[in-house]
Amino acid sequence: MGGILAVVSHPDDETIGCGGTLALHEKESNVLCLTCNPRNRRNELERACMTLGLGKTVVFDEDSVIPKGALIKQVADIIVKECPRVVVTHLPFDYHTDHRATYDVVKEAIEWAAHTTAYPNPCLVERLLLMEVNTLIPSPHILVDVSETMERKKAALNSYSSQLSKFPWRYYQRFNDEKAALRGAQANCIYAEAFIEEPLAKNGPFYESKATKNLLR
Ligand SMILES: [Zn+2]
Repeated sequence: MGGILAVVSHPDDETIGCGGTLALHEKESNVLCLTCNPRNRRNELERACMTLGLGKTVVFDEDSVIPKGALIKQVADIIVKECPRVVVTHLPFDYHTDHRATYDVVKEAIEWAAHTTAYPNPCLVERLLLMEVNTLIPSPHILVDVSETMERKKAALNSYSSQLSKFPWRYYQRFNDEKAALRGAQANCIYAEAFIEEPLAKNGPFYESKATKNLLR
């Protein structure tokens, strides 16, 4: 695939965290959602992803994210199959325990997806970006200008009636709009999405690629 894979905990995280960015790269983006509880959120997720212009999403039916071997292997399998250049996931300091667990799972899965000992056709992910859902990033490394896709992000968010109805004062919509405007102000554009870029260790068979004799080149 070679595009972007967003690995998220819950339906709606992909839209709130990086929906504008995914829509910018709609033909090359995909979503892997690790939980789906209650089950009707799967329909909402599919509608949202369709609005963002994305292809078929992958949804696991777990109730919560348990950062253990079986789930890490399942995620690594998807990474090897899709072989994205960029993976987007949650922050390790997110307030939500599933989000933090997803970060742990994704870090491990990226590592194992790259090992020739684990896969005959390993995938070396190039970049790992961490998105903000409801916990904000203090100092973003990357601000993606999503001014062109913001309307689609807003429309995608509207797919989540089960979530939006929890907050009659339009919390989700206001937070979504104002966060994008805040990041847009920082980036000198109308709307933006913020990310932390986390360096990948590139261990195992990729140690050799780290060798250098010149730190200034
Ligand atoms: Zn979530």
